[in-house]
Amino acid sequence: MDGLIAQIAVAAPLDRLLSYRVPESLEAEVRCGMRVRVPLGRRTAIGYVLEVGPGKLDALKPVHEVLGSEPLFPPAMEKFYRRAADYYQYPIGEVIRTALPAGLSGGGNEVKALAERIYRSSAAAGTPRGPRQRELLDYLHRVGCASRSELTTMFPGCHASLKALVEKGFVLEGQQERMRDPFSDMPPAADTQVEMTEPQSQALNVIDQALREGGFRQMLLHGVTGSGKTEVYLRAIEQVLRADRQALVLVPEIALTPQLVSRFRARFAGGRATLAVLHSGLSAGERFDAWRSVARGEVDIVIGARSAVFAPLERLGMVIVDEEHESSYKQGDGFRYHARDLALMRGQMEEAVVLLGSATPALTTFQRACSGKITFLELPERVMNRSMPQVELIDLTQERPEGILAPLLKDALSANYERGEQSLLLLNRRGFAPYLLCADCGDTLRCPHCDITLTYYLAQKELRCNYCDFHRQPPDQCPSCQGANLMPEGAGTERLEQELQELLPAARIARMDRDTTGRKGAHQAMVTAMEDGAVDVLVGTQMVAKGLDFPGVTLVGVVQTDNLLNLPDFRAAERAFTLLTQVAGRAGRGERPGKVYVQTYAPEHFALECSVRHDYEGFAREELRLRQELGYPPFGFLVNCVFSGVLREQVETAAQKLVAQLSGPAAKLGVEVLGPAPCPLARLRGKNRYQVLLKAPTRPPLRHLLTRLPGMRRTLPGKVGLTVDVDPLDML
Ligand code: ADP
Ligand code: ZN
Repeated sequence: MDGLIAQIAVAAPLDRLLSYRVPESLEAEVRCGMRVRVPLGRRTAIGYVLEVGPGKLDALKPVHEVLGSEPLFPPAMEKFYRRAADYYQYPIGEVIRTALPAGLSGGGNEVKALAERIYRSSAAAGTPRGPRQRELLDYLHRVGCASRSELTTMFPGCHASLKALVEKGFVLEGQQERMRDPFSDMPPAADTQVEMTEPQSQALNVIDQALREGGFRQMLLHGVTGSGKTEVYLRAIEQVLRADRQALVLVPEIALTPQLVSRFRARFAGGRATLAVLHSGLSAGERFDAWRSVARGEVDIVIGARSAVFAPLERLGMVIVDEEHESSYKQGDGFRYHARDLALMRGQMEEAVVLLGSATPALTTFQRACSGKITFLELPERVMNRSMPQVELIDLTQERPEGILAPLLKDALSANYERGEQSLLLLNRRGFAPYLLCADCGDTLRCPHCDITLTYYLAQKELRCNYCDFHRQPPDQCPSCQGANLMPEGAGTERLEQELQELLPAARIARMDRDTTGRKGAHQAMVTAMEDGAVDVLVGTQMVAKGLDFPGVTLVGVVQTDNLLNLPDFRAAERAFTLLTQVAGRAGRGERPGKVYVQTYAPEHFALECSVRHDYEGFAREELRLRQELGYPPFGFLVNCVFSGVLREQVETAAQKLVAQLSGPAAKLGVEVLGPAPCPLARLRGKNRYQVLLKAPTRPPLRHLLTRLPGMRRTLPGKVGLTVDVDPLDML
């Protein structure tokens, strides 16, 4: 019997599309881009229609139900999804599920999930037991009402205490609509009309030319910090809009880039263009609404983080990837895509211009620019003849600090404060101290579930694992030797803040890290306080290095570099150089010049020497030379296969089995198989982890080898998980 057949990507771990019969009653509704419910084995599953056409129905099962009334993506996206799935060897249905806005994944026609669980303190008498419950209750008394996600950010691992409080009647649980656009109450920045600098104009000319010619072009805008990259983006987009096409702007993290978003709003709001900001602060319903209006073609400019690369724009003229080197563009679990790489793939398929911008391009990007694949655009100087900050290394082997800060940096901070200028300090560790050390036996307190020391938090008097939910009160005695001399060792932002307050008792100090920015609006409040000059010194983790533009900052201090340089990862030097350059770039962006001090035990390291000279190219060339010797990216391609499970031996055996199965075909294809070896973080959240790294000088043999994985996956013992990471960034 003939009829209509739909090719459907079912949201399940399947490596191909499935065919379903379209019942006559649904013929009008089953179209590309529709979400449907289909039978799968003995259950039903959600799927996405990719194609519909005539064919033999035979024994095909029918589509059960069509969900929603309009397509979620235009037909052009279908090819993009397929290529992405193929590239990352990830099930196509899961790729599409990841791409679509969250909150859709359940069944039903309506998008629900508008509500979020919230908690408020009740009038119940008595006192709860345990410091943790008291702490939670105190907090709720103070703020009145808080969402579950807010509480778990403020008090990691608080589920049990929260539940106890609710059960005892101290806390009331309820539901509330999710928060609205966190930027909506922010006045848009005034749009400043500036005269373009010569390099800005030149870069823009090349971009305009490419836009007029049409077709796919990839470009790298390498502009030093404060060189005015954003202005180039804004003008390029004006050009895109004039050609009646749409623009997609990817930023690393929306919540951390309020200044950039408000500059876009200022330029395009007020009827000049419709702008949608996709971000995680939106409720599921709002996100779905925004998505739908993009899919209907009502939006000209989409700004969003990683997942916005899937925004269903149909007339895409340009994709901008700001701070393209940022590792947050890579998804760390599930479908492990890299948004910059997918932006390039999408640009190629939809004949758009892709503009990658950074002061510190990823080495893979720079190498492509050197080889001529990417057009290289450069903004070598800061705007308004502002100078680059002067960077000075403080050799800690010579200048031993009493506490965290060397005398030189202390003096500079005091002097800067006396002058009434703002300072910024980077320390890439949260908490008070990275561990408690027993002064008697030298043991440290470690997480029972992870291969990592427990971080000590002074304010909460708590030891906490930064990877899992584990936390405990610090013991009075060492668990190994019963000694009573447990000392907080090393430094985190909390301790730095304390030392700073002692140094400058009258100064207004703010701390910006994941612990202080969990609450809604907290990050924004700190940014505003810095902008208004209400903060003298901002202390924080790498958050402070990201894209912020505070003209009042004239002094930057980097407290620790050695932990960055010594990570067991071939990208350690690249990451260190990038972070240093980015944080240094926060200094001297206003009228007064900036000064940067970097504390280190390895002042002769080339990554540091190059950052002193602001020499990106020098660093890149040296690092590329090392990579080439070792065949690491961009001169080789990697796939990381990570096995994990509770029983170490089972995991190791599974990994060995994979190696045995792969090594024959790998040798024929010229793929190196490295391992199995325990991951650098050999235990995480109670699971033992082994990795097998596949490495080849070109991509095709790797991809060929990967097609064998689904078969091998089926032979794994049920309790061992396997994740496959194509182009891995994090290999710890
Ligand atoms: P980048 O992103 O390259 O670090 P920004 O785009 O944030 O730099 O620009 C830094 C500052 O310079 C911003 O405050 C911006 O408004 C300003 N600016 C940009 N272009 C010009 C220009 N041509 N003339 C004067 N100021 C400019
Ligand atoms: Zn842990």
